[in-house]
Amino acid sequence: MSDRHPMTGNEMSGSERGGLERHSYDVVVIGAGGAGLRAAIAAHDAGARTAIVCKSLLGKAHTVMAEGGIAAAMGNRWPEDNWEVHFRDTMRGGKMLNNWRMAQLHAQEAPERVQELEDWGALFDRTEDGLISQRDFGGHRYARLAHVGDRTGLEMIRTLQQRAVALGIDVFMECTVTELLKEGGSISGAFGYWRETGRFVVFDAPSVVLATGGIGKSFKVTSNSWEYTGDGHALALRAGASLINMEFVQFHPTGMVWPPSVKGLLVTESVRGDGGILKNSEGKRFMFDYIPEFFKAETADTEEEADRWYDDKKNNRRPPELLPRDEVARAINSEIKAGRGTPHGGIYLDIASRRSPEYIRKRLPSMYHQFKELADVDITQEPMEIGPTCHYVMGGVEVDADTELSGVTGLYAVGECSGGMHGSNRLGGNSLSDLLVFGRRAGEAAASYAEGLGGQRPSVSEDDVKAAEQAALAPFESEGGENPYSIQQDLQQSMNDLVGIIRTGQELSRSLEEIEAFKGRAGKLSVEGHRQYNPGWHLALDLRNMLLVSECIAKAALAREESRGGHTRDDFPMTSDSWGTKNLVLRLNAAGDGVDLAEQPLPVMPEDLQTYFESK
Ligand SMILES: Cc1cc2nc3c(=O)[nH]c(=O)nc-3n(C[C@H](O)[C@H](O)[C@H](O)COP(=O)(O)OP(=O)(O)OC[C@H]3O[C@@H](n4cnc5c(N)ncnc54)[C@H](O)[C@@H]3O)c2cc1C
Repeated sequence: MSDRHPMTGNEMSGSERGGLERHSYDVVVIGAGGAGLRAAIAAHDAGARTAIVCKSLLGKAHTVMAEGGIAAAMGNRWPEDNWEVHFRDTMRGGKMLNNWRMAQLHAQEAPERVQELEDWGALFDRTEDGLISQRDFGGHRYARLAHVGDRTGLEMIRTLQQRAVALGIDVFMECTVTELLKEGGSISGAFGYWRETGRFVVFDAPSVVLATGGIGKSFKVTSNSWEYTGDGHALALRAGASLINMEFVQFHPTGMVWPPSVKGLLVTESVRGDGGILKNSEGKRFMFDYIPEFFKAETADTEEEADRWYDDKKNNRRPPELLPRDEVARAINSEIKAGRGTPHGGIYLDIASRRSPEYIRKRLPSMYHQFKELADVDITQEPMEIGPTCHYVMGGVEVDADTELSGVTGLYAVGECSGGMHGSNRLGGNSLSDLLVFGRRAGEAAASYAEGLGGQRPSVSEDDVKAAEQAALAPFESEGGENPYSIQQDLQQSMNDLVGIIRTGQELSRSLEEIEAFKGRAGKLSVEGHRQYNPGWHLALDLRNMLLVSECIAKAALAREESRGGHTRDDFPMTSDSWGTKNLVLRLNAAGDGVDLAEQPLPVMPEDLQTYFESK
């Protein structure tokens, strides 16, 4: 037969045309964001037969939404910038809970990865001297974010995607992976379905790289898109890997609050980096009241000094609007709670009174259009109304820093679905660089492992494939049950109310009870119709992951009795020294229906790196 596969162009097997479709690769990368694409390119370059599987269209991953830039100590604006300062900023931003080795590799390798993107055709904004332009972001000592206006993610994806396609890497798009397959303790492949036809597909591969992004869709107000249902986190747990840092969820300080249809949509930090300030309903620039002890030495405490910083960044302290995100989000939350919010329950972000309309339109074109078209607000003339929005999860699959290998042989994780790099709080711009640095490392390691196996690849068990089919079809089995949308809506509301930006032990305990109840409801849900493009069925499958990941967040948040980074406890408002020495690790429980939690000491930072916190 000469039938060719519609996506790959490869000849299809007999069963592909009728029932189960099968493919065989050395490395399968799940996810086509920055992390997945970079990993796939590296695996291909290392000689592995590589495929990318993604549940949305190629080019439509979350990375495309990234606005501000890629953090890398290139020193183009400030020659005194270097990897040591970037490393120090990253660790301090994460409140020292980061995996130090990941933070080190990230700071050391990010400049090379950005340069490489340019070599592959990315068109960055330039300095007057023709170098890649770098902009200011919160928590970074120097202007460090390589950017393309406020559409950096789009350019990054365009470049990586073009390269991946040019290299001939096979892409399976609109294909969702629902299970990882193993033989013994090792990965043997992945199981999924085509979203359009509902047909099942098995990927035979000894190396699988998870690059599935974040978890934001478990929360009601979020900057994240529909894809962020924590699939990679849940797939890893079910395969036997562990998650760390799950209590740390970043609430970005500035999301839109109005109109309701776009509540949570991101307002990039570049607005503040380019001079925007925060004011309450009384017109007060309130961030001066919220400078924590930890950052006092380097933060301006008068408006005059804060404003001078934009002209001479070397000799002046930074404006308090550019404190790390957790600090700014908490301050905004406090102002709103104290009754000094805007009519729509936010705070004002004002760049109109501080920069010319031409400057704003040039530096922030997407923000200008976003507010004009969605809220009928001209940001060159009037302030924006903004409030915190669930944005990023610091927690993810626990991996080896150098190779991104999880606790399961053959399973790698990279990008937002991996944990450790950002500790308790990520600095803006450090995600895009994370994707590039660790994407490359994961791809190389996954290819090398597959090659080392020679002919001794773990094989896919037909029983496991049958079980995966049955699990995927379960939502069609029961009749008259609840639909998945109502459960998802209740979960999102519950996570927002009980596991949000400010938490208490009582609320977290309640959230765990509610999650158990949602699980019970999800076990009995039913979906209508058949397998051909059926969004209700897709959601029913995603919901399993959202519930498992939500449980991880709530359980770890309840256990960590302190406030640190993206985890604020009203009943434990201080940062505790004893909690500063350990991580919380989650694994699937013996029954396979929830997670167990354990404490784990942080890896010890070598002495030569410790000196950076004393002298720079
Ligand atoms: C609005 C916005 C602006 C941002 N701006 C910045 C910025 O300026 N700088 C910065 O550093 N960070 C920024 N971030 C964060 C950053 O964009 C993300 O953390 C990063 O892009 C995540 O990349 P990723 O490759 O890990 O995941 P993604 O880019 O989301 O890719 C995930 C991929 O996994 C696929 N997938 C998921 N589940 C499955 C499954 N079960 N089966 C198959 N495929 C699956 C998806 O289809 C997708 O292709 C921003 C985030 C947002 C929301």
